[in-house]
Amino acid sequence: MAIENVVIIGSGPSAYTAAIYASRANLNPLIIEGEGGRNEGIPGGQLMITTEVENYPGFPKGVQGPELMQLMREQAERFGTRIETGWVETVDFKKRPFTLKTTEKTYEASAVIVSTGAGAKFLGIPSEKALANRGVSACATCDGALPLFRNKKLIVVGGGDTAMEEANFLTRFASKVVIVHRRKELRASKIMFDRAQKHPKIEFILDSVVDEILDVKLGKVTGARLKNLVTNDTQVVEAAGVFVAIGHSPNTAFLKGHIALDEAGYVKVTKGTYTSVDGIFAAGDCVDHVYRQAVTAAGMGCMAAIDTERWLEAQGH
Ligand code: NAP
Repeated sequence: MAIENVVIIGSGPSAYTAAIYASRANLNPLIIEGEGGRNEGIPGGQLMITTEVENYPGFPKGVQGPELMQLMREQAERFGTRIETGWVETVDFKKRPFTLKTTEKTYEASAVIVSTGAGAKFLGIPSEKALANRGVSACATCDGALPLFRNKKLIVVGGGDTAMEEANFLTRFASKVVIVHRRKELRASKIMFDRAQKHPKIEFILDSVVDEILDVKLGKVTGARLKNLVTNDTQVVEAAGVFVAIGHSPNTAFLKGHIALDEAGYVKVTKGTYTSVDGIFAAGDCVDHVYRQAVTAAGMGCMAAIDTERWLEAQGH
């Protein structure tokens, strides 16, 4: 079996950017792109389920998420990146070359860049799925400024810092933002909660969950039916959008026990993109739960490729 110089796991902005840099450095990288488990069978990361991206520099008129991913992919391929599809299930990072096994194949590599991303958690109710991209979103930064939400009442679900931040951001466009949280106590930090609570456009509905997002028949969000968990009462709140902000989870389950992860499963990095195992690098949303933007992921992908190149060179590669 040929030993790869560098295998990049993932197919979002950090993976493609790492591949562009690594291929231009003559490392002949191989991308193992996922099978799009979270995206209904479409590899390419979270941008494949986003509509218009208006904040990626270089696209003054905006660009569709899937188109941006296709362009990055073509750019990586132009410099010789090879792309294979597979779901990395097990790894051996204890000895070099490192081993990666997908459902189909076994790979050996001198270095690995982990760019497996993260996925927003969803509520898991049928109406949420039916109205995805029709008023249901998990990213206010990506979708909040769309005309469909302007000067409208919006719902944000969740009680953590993400929910507070999303709600605060949405007040720029919305007429009102209602935060729906399942408990009385917020999980958010005090400062973020205080800011949201003081905001004249934000109101809270506590002890409540979203039972159903309306209106699947109309094919657009008109509101949500909420259920109070203490009284069991239900109420309908009118809204043009429902932003689900109940956290993200990194796609790192297969790395548990192989490289250091934090309590939430994010890859721990030091010195740029170095992980706890020499020769394994990580970039993008599987590392970063703070910024989580396509442009920051791409930037980290570039860093990972440069770190990898220098590390391989130091190994006499
Ligand atoms: P989080 O802290 O885990 O909060 C998730 C929230 O969603 C919780 O309030 C949780 O309710 C609720 N939730 C989870 N599953 C739910 C479900 N199925 N139905 C209804 N509600 C559900 O996640 P996060 O807000 O994304 O924050 C993640 C990390 O990033 C945190 O460490 C946070 O401090 C950090 N962060 C920081 C900033 C900042 O400083 N600017 C911004 C964003 C995030 P319960 O409370 O009942 O569990």
